[in-house]
Amino acid sequence: MMKILVSGAGAAGLCAGINLARAGHTVEIVERANHLRVNGSPIDVRGEALETARSMGILDAVLEHRITMTEQTMFVDSSGVAVAPLVTQEINDTPDDIELPREDLMTILRHALPEQVDLRFEESIATLADDGDRVAITFASGRDAAYDLVVGADGVHSAVRRLVFGPEQDFTEHLGVYVAIGDAPGQAAPGERVTEILNLPGRFAGVARYRDKALGVFEFRSDPIDYDYHDLNAQKRILTEAFAGVEDWKVPELIKAAQDDPNLYFDVLTQIHLPNWHRGRVVLIGDAAHCATPMAGRGTALALLGAWTLAEELTRHGDDLTTAFVAYEQRQRPHAAAAQEFGRGGADLVVPATWEAIEARNTRLRAAQPL
Ligand SMILES: Cc1cc2nc3c(=O)[nH]c(=O)nc-3n(C[C@H](O)[C@H](O)[C@H](O)COP(=O)(O)OP(=O)(O)OC[C@H]3O[C@@H](n4cnc5c(N)ncnc54)[C@H](O)[C@@H]3O)c2cc1C
Repeated sequence: MMKILVSGAGAAGLCAGINLARAGHTVEIVERANHLRVNGSPIDVRGEALETARSMGILDAVLEHRITMTEQTMFVDSSGVAVAPLVTQEINDTPDDIELPREDLMTILRHALPEQVDLRFEESIATLADDGDRVAITFASGRDAAYDLVVGADGVHSAVRRLVFGPEQDFTEHLGVYVAIGDAPGQAAPGERVTEILNLPGRFAGVARYRDKALGVFEFRSDPIDYDYHDLNAQKRILTEAFAGVEDWKVPELIKAAQDDPNLYFDVLTQIHLPNWHRGRVVLIGDAAHCATPMAGRGTALALLGAWTLAEELTRHGDDLTTAFVAYEQRQRPHAAAAQEFGRGGADLVVPATWEAIEARNTRLRAAQPL
């Protein structure tokens, strides 16, 4: 049995913690934030991840929290009048998904975490040295410890990946779009499940609703922007600048609500591509290994599946870490590659770059499903 450090308490990190601890390992999870980051828009558990959820014993809980996010997604004009419907098949590659609030899935995973797992907030890896027998870690808090295995589950901007594999830009494919999702309490309309989106060239602002909640959702095209990923004020400033001067529809209210949200989710749509996901006693899972971006609608399902597969292969191969890592990659890669392929196409559909492209998209959608 090993002493394992997991960096990151997202879906990938929690799922790894659950399954590695259940397999008998001693597991510590460090999370950079001071709480579980549960915000964001509802996510999909789908494909093989449904079987993962069943095997982990959380499928019933997932089903209990299932929601139908959208009865219809409508593109609207600057006065809020519907101009084209978005047919679900355009954004959903398979019909087998279970949609649930991200906060519910994270809570389900947190509750499934065995008591003996040491989950530490406001902690992160500062330095890492793998001597072949152990991985020596110095944490940001100044604490030192050594582990048999380190799992990087710290998301698209993974620190483990940077420390072990190299700088982030060596592995990124910038899709040319930024995304922000924040609470929009003023837009809540219980029972209402229509998602509305206003497009401007290279930008969209929308409202998505579920249960009694409303979210402001934004995307905009941009070349890579240099900013500190962890600086919420910088994120809010970039978002606000992207929509500066836009007075159409509900955009000013939505931007104001995003500015007021202490948990705004903001990120670049960047895919992560690495030739392999392991080095020595370190292995990557979830977005750290193969982010497909929210455009793919599969990031969380992939995270669950990958964490489960890694734990299974470690159990199968015992001390032979390299064989376990290779087997994990062989099983996970086709799923990651398919999601990345699907995720690449989304921008032209939801953030067309010009008025002409917006109009052409609307005409095509109206032909497929008249208003
Ligand atoms: C707050 C938030 C909101 C999101 N909202 C959406 C959404 O609305 N739609 C969507 O499609 N996807 C969203 N995502 C991304 C989605 O969660 C992932 O694509 C998917 O679930 C894969 O999960 P992951 O665990 O690999 O990565 P993530 O969900 O990104 O989790 C990584 C975790 O690691 C932590 N972390 C980061 N750096 C360090 C570090 N150096 N040390 C320790 N911990 C670290 C992060 O705080 C985070 O908790 C969101 C992610 C986050 C963090």
